[in-house]
Amino acid sequence: MAFDSILRNACIGGREPQLVDIGIAGGRIVELASGITGSGPEQDLAGRLVIAGFVDTHIHLDKSCILDRCKSQQGMLAEAIAEVAAAKRAFTEHDVYERACRTLEKAILQGTTRMRTHVEVDPRIGLKGFRAIRRLKQDYAWAIDIEICVFPQEGLLNDPGAEDLLIEACEQGADLIGGCPYTDSDPHGQIARIFALARQFDFDIDFHLDFDLEPSRMDIEEVCRQTKIAGWGGRVAVGHVTKLSALDSERFTAIAKRLADSGVAVTVLPATDLFLMGRNHDHNVPRGVAPAHRLLDYGVVCSIASNNVLNPFTPFGDCSLVRMANLYANVAQLGRPSELASCFDMVTALPAKLMKLRDYGLAVGGPADLVVLDCQDGPGAVAELARPLFGMKNGRRTFVCPPPRLLHAPCGEAR
Ligand SMILES: [Zn+2]
Repeated sequence: MAFDSILRNACIGGREPQLVDIGIAGGRIVELASGITGSGPEQDLAGRLVIAGFVDTHIHLDKSCILDRCKSQQGMLAEAIAEVAAAKRAFTEHDVYERACRTLEKAILQGTTRMRTHVEVDPRIGLKGFRAIRRLKQDYAWAIDIEICVFPQEGLLNDPGAEDLLIEACEQGADLIGGCPYTDSDPHGQIARIFALARQFDFDIDFHLDFDLEPSRMDIEEVCRQTKIAGWGGRVAVGHVTKLSALDSERFTAIAKRLADSGVAVTVLPATDLFLMGRNHDHNVPRGVAPAHRLLDYGVVCSIASNNVLNPFTPFGDCSLVRMANLYANVAQLGRPSELASCFDMVTALPAKLMKLRDYGLAVGGPADLVVLDCQDGPGAVAELARPLFGMKNGRRTFVCPPPRLLHAPCGEAR
């Protein structure tokens, strides 16, 4: 058989690694077995890990790279929202597109092949950000599959005109709808409206939720309740949920069971959560990161994602999901191989499940979408921040990052 390319000695298989050759033709994986025979350009991967790419379920391309326009003093959530709201007034479609490009290209080079980007829609920005990201989605389809989640960052029921704009975006190419009840004058009212719109458009939902460390009032139960009523199990995700980190184990267990039972997934955003939470403590500062690994024990689908890049919510960012998994493992004090494997799952297979990506994974007949990492397995990738060496989409190489090389002094020379 003639292949377009053959990748030999690839390590695949997640929790049960196996060494195989990958035969690619016509943009698809046509053979996946050891010692495949056939002709075509070959590359020996020498046992390196091959995955279907990282999956980022929660990033904000539209408001990335704006640190030079903001001046945060306290590092609190309310300040970040206000600073971005002020900067947003000067956004143009071209400006959003140009900044989002920079961030997206970083993510591609970090091995991300699927992404859900949250895009702000309200009467100040109108549909400018949405239109820019919609164009970006098309322009970069050669490298990455992007889902657009439109949402009202500054409230819905308190912001006349926001709902009409959301509906317009839903009619013009948004893939799903999000919400942010904690900035609304009526959080439960917003949750109800978002569910109503989701039903109207048959869209999945992804909320920003319960984003502080005060557990006395939570919206998570209301989201679970509405999910049940709508029959939307498996179609709802919630991001941040930092309040979960402040619960005693009895209440945590009750909510974990409720999330699993209602089919609500959870995304933790460690870079943002660590940066913004606990600012009112001057010592023993809490971590403020939801313990996703404990939710996994109850069967809750969880992902670890990037959220913000170079803005007042998170003034850092290289768009590396393997770095996010490492950060989460460090903060959650996880170090055993099985625990690190769970962290790796939360940036690969589990976010793919959250986004219902049915063609994600390496399989015969599936798309030749893959990323080669400079490591042998998932725990090793998380522990050592393995570098992506190259990626493919539909069998075509989308990026290369050759491994760095030491240039040793010649033998006998002073060191
Ligand atoms: Zn977010």
